[in-house]
Amino acid sequence: MFESDVLDVPQRALTGDLPEESRVGELVRDAHSRFAPVTHGTVADYIPVLAEADPDLFGLSLVEVDGTVHDAGDTVATFSIQSISKAFVLALVCDAIGHEEVHRIVGVNNTGLPFNSVIALELNDGSPMNPMVNAGAIATTALMPGDTAEEKWWAVREGLSRFAGRSLELDERVLRSESASNHRNQGISDLLTSYGRLQGRSEEMVDVYTRQCSLLVTADDLAIMGATLADGGLNPITREQVVSPEVCRDTLSVLAACGMYELSGEWLFEIGLPAKSGVSGGIVAVAPGKGALGAFSPPLDRAGNSVRGQRACSYLSRALGLNLFASRPRPAKEGDHDA
Ligand code: GLN
Repeated sequence: MFESDVLDVPQRALTGDLPEESRVGELVRDAHSRFAPVTHGTVADYIPVLAEADPDLFGLSLVEVDGTVHDAGDTVATFSIQSISKAFVLALVCDAIGHEEVHRIVGVNNTGLPFNSVIALELNDGSPMNPMVNAGAIATTALMPGDTAEEKWWAVREGLSRFAGRSLELDERVLRSESASNHRNQGISDLLTSYGRLQGRSEEMVDVYTRQCSLLVTADDLAIMGATLADGGLNPITREQVVSPEVCRDTLSVLAACGMYELSGEWLFEIGLPAKSGVSGGIVAVAPGKGALGAFSPPLDRAGNSVRGQRACSYLSRALGLNLFASRPRPAKEGDHDA
């Protein structure tokens, strides 16, 4: 898919540490200038206000687990977090109810179908399948701590803000635009209710979910949020322990399997990192123990993943040696078994 982008890049097979700081910064800037001219993809318009996004905006941020930030392009431009919120709400829910319950109630397997598929629910006896598709995300939001929709919303906003290390604002225009056009999510949520799979009132849970998708972030925020998952739940900027290392492990495994929807397999094959995308053009890709990439560029591919964002992540994964599946033979040592 992206192999031709990286043929001339010196590739790191190492999965140990990142290269020295100056080299990381140089590669982030290089990725930005390399993919800025790409014009493929289409800006999402099924949520009317998203269609107004500037297709030329392109920001890349890499935050290391020690808090070092490397930026290129539009890294402080704000956009609604959309589906990337699902990753962090999952982490908060894992923290609140634990590994077993998330597995039992929501599931962790890819549907192989688009993120807003109704058929996926019907085919699986009403199981939402995983927290990264809309059905599973609405079911997961409903599991947030709080007795009322208002309390759950507060917990979502406060929790995501702790990941970002700053108070995240709600984009009222995006909320209004999506609320007026999200009949499909309402249908999915009603269907979940009919299968007895939604805790809480359908309309209210869709509203909390839509609010969480309307929180404003930047590429820098995404990289900080991802780097928190990369460092066992410790925010690298505020040094606050947001969730436990076990929650990060569980969340990242779901992102690897389902974060890029039905293209998650291709993404892993090319990039080899847990990641999450959103329809406004954001991507967060997490390199456990090292840091995270935050990308923003509105034009999307057919599954709803940012085109420039994916290509930049592919390039940086190769050049920085981030792919989780890469290794190279260990040099023989004295005492090794003879062949
Ligand atoms: N809020 C959007 C929706 O529910 C999120 C989808 C996405 O980012 N893929 O349709």
